[in-house]
Formats: sequence, structure tokens, C-alpha cells
Amino acid sequence: MMKMEVAPPKVLKQPLVIPQRVLMGPGPSNVHPRVLHAMSHNVLGHMNQETFQIMDEIKEGIRYLFQTKNDLTLATSATGHSGMEAILCNLIEPGDKVLVAVNGLWGTRAADMAERYGGVVTEMTVKLGKNFTFDVIESFLSKVRPKLLFIVQGETSTGVFQPIEGLGKICHRYDCLLAVDLVATVGGVPFFMDKWEVDAAYTAVQKILSVPTGLAIMSFSPKAQKVIFDRKIPPKVFFWDMRILGQQWKCYDKPRIYHHTVSSSLLSALRESLAMLAEEGLENVIKRHEICYERLAKGLQDLGLKFFVEEEKDRLITVTSLIVRDEFDHKEFLDFCMKKYSLEIGTGLLGQTGGGKLLRVGLMGYNATLETVEFTLKVMKEAKDHAETKSS
Ligand code: PMP
Repeated sequence: MMKMEVAPPKVLKQPLVIPQRVLMGPGPSNVHPRVLHAMSHNVLGHMNQETFQIMDEIKEGIRYLFQTKNDLTLATSATGHSGMEAILCNLIEPGDKVLVAVNGLWGTRAADMAERYGGVVTEMTVKLGKNFTFDVIESFLSKVRPKLLFIVQGETSTGVFQPIEGLGKICHRYDCLLAVDLVATVGGVPFFMDKWEVDAAYTAVQKILSVPTGLAIMSFSPKAQKVIFDRKIPPKVFFWDMRILGQQWKCYDKPRIYHHTVSSSLLSALRESLAMLAEEGLENVIKRHEICYERLAKGLQDLGLKFFVEEEKDRLITVTSLIVRDEFDHKEFLDFCMKKYSLEIGTGLLGQTGGGKLLRVGLMGYNATLETVEFTLKVMKEAKDHAETKSS
């Protein structure tokens, strides 16, 4: 008998226990039972006909979600970051000028990635908690003359909403491509990829689509697709190469080829989520998020909590950031929510929020219901009373 050098871990002899939890942080959101069920189907081969059909149906669903007719529309097998990586990797060649709008973590991260792909990056910054006016953006476009502008529609690290409508036209006047991060927005707020002339956009599946994390979905305009095919050198990372992955997803008039083994279980989950979106209707889903946000914002105000984003029109409805200075210990608050009610509220990702700590309340997908909002407000009231008593 062969003798193993490392013994089987004792911890793995214990049964797996996953608690019931209400995920009201900035993501992930809870997964819809229909999506969980879809994931329990048989696993299929990635080159099976049935998988191809699911991929084709997903492409239709993404086109509906993004409001686009783009051919190059697909999913990558990795989290939201892969959308950012794939777009920057494919659209940037070494020496290209890239303008990145930085008003939180996600712009900062995109700037870092763009540099790694050889981009010559200019960071356009604004005070945390604010968004970018089109005048400011246009002045940067005219000075920098970048090949690409990267901007985030919903900056989850601070809870700031960035208007996008009209920006594509401005970028195109300066011969600049527009790439937009939709990770916390599309499906919860309006987005029209074609009408707004956006060249590249992506989202993750674990927030508004309420699918377990593991896929990013994205789309490229015909203009962006041409830039990818006209590159002087191949994209730096094989895994993000849209010329090859796009062929597996049959985005071009060419036979499918193998790029990587996509998870058929995650594809089933995403298809189910997109099917539910089509059933409810995108405009109704957006409306549901708006109605829930109105109730949430009113409830938070009644609790005496302070919004981090001062101007109401700049607030992201899917992630509300609240600033806690000396009123109470924010950790005591978060622990109370988690331990007593298994409710996850997010905390701040940034250290520069004027000396205070952020609480971030998500409102996304399956959790965007009035019932869940009422539950969240009730727990937050108790948690605040508890944390204030502890602090006094
Ligand atoms: N962009 C934004 C705006 C996000 O909020 C996140 C995740 N919180 C990401 C990108 C990255 O997504 P992931 O963690 O799925 O890689």
C-alpha cells in the first residue's frame, strides 16, 4: 500500500455548513433559487452543441441587457476584473495614450492595468464622492488626445453615479474610444450601449444578475472590434484575446474553436438569470430598483445616517455609501447585523474618506425587493441603537 506523506485534513471530515445570509453589501447579492436550480443540471462539454446553443442565447440576453446589436458580445470565465482586463488588454497597444477617470478604487485599478498593458496613462481625478462633468472630461480629451477613455458608471467604493449618456459622442469627436465599467449598474439603472455610442462595456454576474461569481459579460462596438483586429501586435494575454475567444463564442463568421473550458454550470446560471430579466422586462427591473432605492434612502435618512455623496443626483442607487464619523463604532454596527441577523452590510474600501468610516448598502438584483429593504432597515435601526449604546 502506498504511504502518503500528508494526511487527509481532519477539517475536511467535518460536514460543510453554509449559513443562510442576506447579502446587502456592494456585492455579491443573493442568488435567485431559479438560478441555483439551473446550476444543478448535468455538466456539459464546452464544445457540445447544447452548450453552443446556451452561449448563443446568452449573447442575445447580454445584447438585451446592454441594449446593443454588437456582434462581439460574450462572457469571460473569471470575475468582473476580467471584463476590465479584457477590454484594456485588447484595446491598448504599448505606447497608446489612455485617459482614466479616477474617483475611487475602480478607476485606480483600471489605470494600473492600463499601464501594465503598455498604455501611457493620464489619470483624471476629482474629489472622492463626486463625479466628472462632461466639460472637465472634454478638456482632458482635447489636451491628452487619448485613444481610449475608461470610466466607471457606478463607483462602488464611494457610491458615486457617473452619467454616461452623451459622453460617447464627445469621445468620438476626439477620435477616442469609450470604455465603461457597468459592474454595479447595468440592469439597475438605464444603459444604452448603441444609442450612447459606447465602444466597450462589461459587467460581473454576481451583483444585479444575482448569479454566483465567476463570469464577466462584455460587448465591443464595431469600431472597437476593428481596433482589435487592426492591432500591430497580438493582445499581451492569450486568455483575454477577443480574436480567439470571440471565435469560441461564434461572434464572427468563422467556425467555433476551442479557447478554454467554459463552465457549463455557470453558463446555465447566467442563462436563467437573463431569462428572468427578459420575462420581467428590463424597464420593470430598473423601475423595481428605483422604487426600492426610494424606500431605502428615506429609511436611512429617518435613521439619521449621513450619505457620503453629498449631491442626491450623484448617488448610485445600487450602492449607497454612508459616512460614520464619531457617532458610533461602525464595526460594532456591522458585527451586530451579521451575528444577530446574518445580514451583510459592506464597509469602506477607501482610507481617505475624511477621517470617517464608510458603510455601504447594496441594492441589487434578487435583493432589490421592498421586503428585503424593510428587513435591512429594521436591522440597521437595531444595530445603530446597539452601537450607539456601546459608544456612549
Ligand atoms: N468594478 C466595480 C465597479 C466593482 O464594484 C467591482 C467589484 N466589486 C469590480 C469592478 C470587480 O469585480 P470582481 O470583484 O467580480 O472581479
